[in-house]
Amino acid sequence: MNGAEAEMLTLGERASRERRLAEAAEVVDRCRRCEIGSIRQRSVYGEGDACAALMVVGEGPGETEDQLGRPFVGRAGELLERMLLAIGLPRADVFIANTVKCRPTYDDGVRLRNRAPTPAEMANCRPYLDEQIAILRPRAILALGAPSAKSFLGPTFSLTRQRGQWFDGPGGIPLLATFHPAYILRMTGGELGAAKRLVWNDLKSVRAKLDERPAAVTSSVEQVPLFEV
Ligand code: SF4
Repeated sequence: MNGAEAEMLTLGERASRERRLAEAAEVVDRCRRCEIGSIRQRSVYGEGDACAALMVVGEGPGETEDQLGRPFVGRAGELLERMLLAIGLPRADVFIANTVKCRPTYDDGVRLRNRAPTPAEMANCRPYLDEQIAILRPRAILALGAPSAKSFLGPTFSLTRQRGQWFDGPGGIPLLATFHPAYILRMTGGELGAAKRLVWNDLKSVRAKLDERPAAVTSSVEQVPLFEV
């Protein structure tokens, strides 16, 4: 096979993945399997490079994500982008999704508030996440926050004790969990500095995992010493 044929195959594979992701997103948009499917404004399927080496999986959409139909926007999204850039990964080079595709909410009598997804909602939505992973076949998965990590690794997973370790994720894909950007944003002072150092080590481990193979992702972005909060 010459280089041009290989490139055509790559382009064909990319087009195939993009089409399958778009079709899956339409299915998700019609889904009303959970009650939150009828309450949400927009479904948040996920977005990014269909050939991404890294897939990032958070917990669920929040208010801004629900309004825009995009994952990780707002302050947590901006911090995530800085975290990824710190290891030379522009947001557009990864694929970002959540364990549930609709915003989990409760009504406090004044307005809808964010809440964690229930186990039933996560179970209902899991086939969509599994399908995404099967289409993308990323080289590594970064789970953000305990709920996301537990959805892959089981209820006994401890983010405090097992954060930063590599596990076999779906289909044997290496999976590492770290703190959710929204959690980091709630910290201050020395606690924030300590969390940043831990997350920075986790991010460097992700970078090293992606660099293990010659075909690892490349980036025009320079690595920077540490992400800013
Ligand atoms: S959370 Fe997932 S399974 Fe539940 S309604 Fe939304 S798309 Fe469907």
